[in-house]
Amino acid sequence: MATDQLEQQPRQVVAFSEATYILGHTTALENISLEINEGEFVGIIGPNGSGKTTILRAILGLILPRNGNLQIFDCACENLRCHHRARIGYLPQKGKIDRNFPITVLETVIMGRYGVRGLFHRSGKEDIAIALASLEAVGMREFQHHPFGQLSGGQQQRILIARALAQQPQVLLLDEPTTGIDTTTQHTVLELIRRLHRELNLTILLVTHDINLISPLVDQLVLLNTRLFAHGHPQDVLHYDILSQVYGDEIVVTENGYVIGGDSHHG
Ligand code: ADP
Ligand code: MG
Repeated sequence: MATDQLEQQPRQVVAFSEATYILGHTTALENISLEINEGEFVGIIGPNGSGKTTILRAILGLILPRNGNLQIFDCACENLRCHHRARIGYLPQKGKIDRNFPITVLETVIMGRYGVRGLFHRSGKEDIAIALASLEAVGMREFQHHPFGQLSGGQQQRILIARALAQQPQVLLLDEPTTGIDTTTQHTVLELIRRLHRELNLTILLVTHDINLISPLVDQLVLLNTRLFAHGHPQDVLHYDILSQVYGDEIVVTENGYVIGGDSHHG
């Protein structure tokens, strides 16, 4: 039946159409066309300043395209309302939030409810229950009374993922969740994200420099270089001739695959 066929169509969550974003005097993203369906796990890679954070901020509705357009859920981005925004969870890039702010783990996670409830709504029992369930989901419930600033980098990332989950989002945007933590913890954090993706049927966009770690997990890779340089299944994007055009000498082939060399990429 026609209705059955309709239901089987994956729903589009994000659709950029020839969108250009200008920040100050910089063209941060140029002529981006990209569609992401519900439930997809998308990895976003690209060198420093290639527009990775900008594409997440665009999806959050924080910046508007100069040209072209962006549709989020069923809504043009310039009309994005609070209830749409509340369906998108966000883990900002490290250094964009003050991690020494004197606040407990539970208080940090409850902040995820503000976008849903409004800033001046007093947190109620339901908010606390949801925050605790989010902490449970990332395996950090027993840390609820700890000062956030005293946790390790990996633990903080898990708490910030819990904060995004407390919004009960449909879409999760993660900006370099594995940068600046040790390799073992990177694996733990990515395994957590992979599990949450499956269990909560989230649509995930994850920005990373760790191409090899992320490739087995994602449905598609987006390689940005202000323009959308390449896009598709990791197998179709991860080729030396494609990567070297964007990363130049920084791209190194190891026995485990491609690694971005140098220290300058953690931007
Ligand atoms: P990435 O996350 O890939 O490192 P960004 O999306 O943060 O890159 O930035 C893309 C480009 O836009 C860079 O050239 C950056 O310098 C510029 N940019 C980012 N934010 C601003 C801003 N608020 N004002 C002016 N230029 C900006
Ligand atoms: Mg960035």
